[in-house]
Amino acid sequence: MGRYSLPTRGATVGSLLLTGLLATACAQGVDRLPPAALAADPSATGSIAPVATPGTSGWSGEPGASGHPTMAAGAIRAASANFPACIAGLWPQAARRGISRASFTAHTAELTPDLRIMDLLDRQPEFTKSFWDYLDMLVTERRITRGREILALHQPVFDAVERSYGVDRHVIAAIWGIESNFGTSVGDRSVLRSTATLACVGRRQAYFRDEFLAALEILHRGDLRPEQLKGSWAGAFGPTQFMPTSFKRHAVDFDGDGRRDVVGSIPDMIASTANNLRTAGWQNGETWGYEVVAPKGFDYLLADRSRQMTTPEWERRGIRRAGGKAFPRPSDTGYLLVPAGAHGPAFVMLRNFGVIMRYNPSEAYALAIGHLADRMRGGAPFMQAWPRHERVLSRSERRELQQHLARMGYDIGEPDGRLGSKTRIALRAFQQRAGKVPDGFASASVLGSMRRL
Ligand code: CA
Repeated sequence: MGRYSLPTRGATVGSLLLTGLLATACAQGVDRLPPAALAADPSATGSIAPVATPGTSGWSGEPGASGHPTMAAGAIRAASANFPACIAGLWPQAARRGISRASFTAHTAELTPDLRIMDLLDRQPEFTKSFWDYLDMLVTERRITRGREILALHQPVFDAVERSYGVDRHVIAAIWGIESNFGTSVGDRSVLRSTATLACVGRRQAYFRDEFLAALEILHRGDLRPEQLKGSWAGAFGPTQFMPTSFKRHAVDFDGDGRRDVVGSIPDMIASTANNLRTAGWQNGETWGYEVVAPKGFDYLLADRSRQMTTPEWERRGIRRAGGKAFPRPSDTGYLLVPAGAHGPAFVMLRNFGVIMRYNPSEAYALAIGHLADRMRGGAPFMQAWPRHERVLSRSERRELQQHLARMGYDIGEPDGRLGSKTRIALRAFQQRAGKVPDGFASASVLGSMRRL
């Protein structure tokens, strides 16, 4: 893997300091954007002027960068004008979910679209963070220390949740820490308004109708009060940034007060997050993966998510745990990830790594969660250095790399500036033919070598 695939979810604020993630995430139908802890959306800090023209305040008025027809400026204006009718048209679906007419009216009567979200929905940042910069931002001494304090402070709750759900407490604490800086950065947009906007305007309406209706259900049932249902522009809320549909499937009332309150009740929040991971397949007693060292001359074509092997099988290929410890369980099965190529750290990723990625489909995110969890537990930093001298390619450079590959006859699909599996396969084939290590790492040096051909 050249770069990380794509963080993450829209935890709070969605300013996406981080990258082109949102654009990538949405293009792939992912429901999450970057963690709140990283985001710093100035418009989310509370200094928002009263809305003069309903809904259009703060919107650039520009068409979306995706070029999708629903993101044309005229289409956004038309959809915005139709917003009340669009919301009213969702009543039959709401009724089928058991939402009362009174509740529907009470929660939707004053709704207006928040068109600032249209600018955020289609952001395609030119520059992308490297895997190591991303980890540096997320796994900090401050967050490790605070995590240990949080684990001690809520030890009885973590004990009880671990007994009930069998999910490692450190992973839950890591999600809490990365998604919202332990609840201090959860976003302040109305989830109902954000999901209503996205349900009626822009290019992801079908997806967000379900989120909007699930948010209405939460309010109708009284699990959360409207003032609690605040979060990111993409609708994620609470310390571990539940999406409304995810809440609907996984939230539990762990403190027994009759409400599933993942915002105000720490027991409910911790247990609901654990339940989410357990449902996604968390293997009790297993870890997420191991840092490993590959031998000289290793066949990097094996470093692919499709090549699952047990740890003894990896050992037969020369893979060792970093630091020389033995792999603890011969049944552990995983794939080899080299996020920064042959000159950076390698990892064998087990099933639980995939579980974390279901929470948020990004290898960089999942590695940050796993590593932060280990550090809170007292684990050491990674032993192998990242190739910090390498520069990660910008979006236009990634497109150029794809064009070079296409010119040389490789199938890369559409040159869209995203490094999907076709591009990676082509890149490895190019590296192999050029006598280089086929690690699929799209660095500035590999692009340089293509320019010279
Ligand atoms: Ca409760």
